[in-house]
Amino acid sequence: MKTQWISGQWVAGEGEAMASTSPYDSKVIWQGTSATSAQVEEAVTTARDALVEWRKTSFKQRENIILAFAEIAKENGDEIARIISQETGKPFWETKTEAAAVVGKVAVSIKAYHERTGEKQREAAGNKIVLRHRPLGVMAIFGPYNFPAHLPNGHMIPALLAGNTIVYKPSEQTPAIAEFMMTLWQKTGIPDGVINLVQGAKETGIALAESKGIDGLLFTGSANTGHILHRQFAGQPGKMLALEMGGNNPMVVSENYGDLDAAAYTIIQSAYMSAGQRCTCARRLFVPAGEQGDALLNKLTQSIAKMKMDEPFAEPAPFMGPQISIQAAQGILNAQTNLLSLGASGIVEAKNTQHAFVTPGLIDVTNVAELPDEEYFGPLLQVIRYQGLDNAIKQANDTCFGLSAGLLSTNDAEWDEFVENIRAGIVNRNRPLTGASGDAPFGGPGASGNLRPSAYYAADYCAYPMASIEGSE
Ligand code: ADP
Repeated sequence: MKTQWISGQWVAGEGEAMASTSPYDSKVIWQGTSATSAQVEEAVTTARDALVEWRKTSFKQRENIILAFAEIAKENGDEIARIISQETGKPFWETKTEAAAVVGKVAVSIKAYHERTGEKQREAAGNKIVLRHRPLGVMAIFGPYNFPAHLPNGHMIPALLAGNTIVYKPSEQTPAIAEFMMTLWQKTGIPDGVINLVQGAKETGIALAESKGIDGLLFTGSANTGHILHRQFAGQPGKMLALEMGGNNPMVVSENYGDLDAAAYTIIQSAYMSAGQRCTCARRLFVPAGEQGDALLNKLTQSIAKMKMDEPFAEPAPFMGPQISIQAAQGILNAQTNLLSLGASGIVEAKNTQHAFVTPGLIDVTNVAELPDEEYFGPLLQVIRYQGLDNAIKQANDTCFGLSAGLLSTNDAEWDEFVENIRAGIVNRNRPLTGASGDAPFGGPGASGNLRPSAYYAADYCAYPMASIEGSE
């Protein structure tokens, strides 16, 4: 099976057998073989060769190809969504929003290109100074499984607009959608070698990250892999490495917030959307100690009981689907067992029903003395009862991560205190943590990442600024 797209040709991987399985019924939906290190190197060489002409194209030429891609992706929106649902188990309504986000990224990235990297001129001491931007060169792009079309696309579009060429290594858990997205690029008539797809697991990723021929790497994935890549890039300051990783995201319900229905709704959207497999999902919920917290947790327990979890195409539509794999489902249950052994108590315990399905879990960890600072990438929400907003913020900041955070409060002074003191890249008030804005920076400090390779600011990491200075005669 020809599963690698290198130099405008579909070729078979010469490495190991790969398969993709639907997490909701365990059926195999895709089979192929992985790229070997030699094929990865061939893809990098191809991208380097293609760079010679691609970087000379005008912005307009590149923009036209990318606008054609948007049009084709729009026409194929339902098919994109269908494959993602099949491969990840995410509800069909949700993957339709992902397909729309793929198209939406194009306009945002064009705007960002002009605003962040457009040419700027000024006079200084009689010299004409023009700030120009130039492509970095060959970009390696790594994608995760949770948004297998939208997130790598968010790296690819800015990289191409800036004049880079690409070697794309998708998650080995989502090869079917990666392959389909490449067939859409192929239809745009993009020159051979400008985008290349190499499929495979960790070994393929290592070969690409270690290739001497890449100039930069844009990554969205787990903190674990991001840290490995960071170590790999150590000692190569000339290579750009932009990492967007996870979080151990806190959500605080203020002692003054009385609307239990609204709180339960926002918490459920924050913790269990995409079955808890979004990097912005709430992982720790801070509720007021005492009766108010009890009332909220009761309400939340009732709301959880009503949540519908099912196969992606089921009618009526489910709110959430399964975990990406049976191993991932087991990982969440193991995390819960570990927390319970450390002294946590289950308010609603997560359970595996069948295949990779895990029901939402709500675990009170207030009494756990040494709470692990880990991202549990699934539907497991840890509850911490607090007294005083300042204490909640202090505990919320007790993490090496800092991606998203949220406050439910109608009090402006509390919100000011929260945004002033919380350590997070994306801070939300009275809205779910899981909604992001494409026009804002996306990422966070600490172990959540280094730069902002997604959304609007991705443009900054796809081109280097060139100062061109013309002296007077
Ligand atoms: P997620 O679980 O969110 O998909 P991962 O970090 O597991 O995130 O994977 C992100 C991408 O990084 C995938 O394409 C994966 O194959 C790749 N990858 C995993 N481990 C390594 C590694 N050690 N070196 C390079 N790439 C890796």
